[in-house]
Parts: sequence; structure tokens; C-alpha cells
Amino acid sequence: MSHSKRNTSRAVFTSYERELARKSWTSTSARLNRESFLPFSACRLCLETAIDPVSCTHGDIFCRECALSNILAQKKEIKRLDKVKGQEDRDAQERQAQLDAEAHERAVQAFEMTQSGLDRTRVGRRGSWWKR
Ligand SMILES: [Zn+2]
Repeated sequence: MSHSKRNTSRAVFTSYERELARKSWTSTSARLNRESFLPFSACRLCLETAIDPVSCTHGDIFCRECALSNILAQKKEIKRLDKVKGQEDRDAQERQAQLDAEAHERAVQAFEMTQSGLDRTRVGRRGSWWKR
């Protein structure tokens, strides 16, 4: 039993493939014939006659087992993407914190140089160095 979105071993289309075809085919190109569609009782995932059939809101029919394992796989993928996103957010936060710390460090150094009369940035300039 296969759960891949594209099926290559059968003459019929999965609902995903039918959707692709619908989007890419114009009315002048070839039409899907009767044999390209699954019988009504067929599971849209494994393409066999659905066992313990369940239906989604679009009216597609699946084996209960196929539907559940597909939902689980989707949930797993969503979880994985969430994790990747979370890591990226943490990395971005760390980078920003690093930049903030560096900016703070530079400001402190400039302030200390000013306090000790070593502010070279002020020499020969009008206005205040921190407003640049
Ligand atoms: Zn199935």
C-alpha cells in the first residue's frame, strides 16, 4: 500500500494528481477519460477499494487506516516545520541579541573615551557624535 501523492504503478489518478491535471490542462488539451478515474468506492490514497471507508468534507473516500496514517504523516510534517521555524526564530533572536550587545559595547567604549578625554570622533566635527 502506497501513501505517496503521485502514483506511478496504476492507470488511475489520485485526487492530488487529478487536481494537478485540472490546473494544467486547458479545454483544448486531452481530456481525462472514464478509466482515468477511480471507482466511487476506491480509497483516494491507496487506490484500492476502501476498507472501513471514511469521507472528508470534499467527498473523497479513504480507508480509515489510510486517512489516519496520512493525517499522522501530515501532523508529523507540520511539527517538523514548526521545529525548523522555531530554531530559525531562536537563531535570529540570538543574532539580534549579539548585534545589540556589540552596539551597546561600542556605545559604552565611546562614552568611556569621552569621559577620559580621548574622544577622537569629536575632534574637527560640529555637532554631537551620537546624533550621526
Ligand atoms: Zn486506502
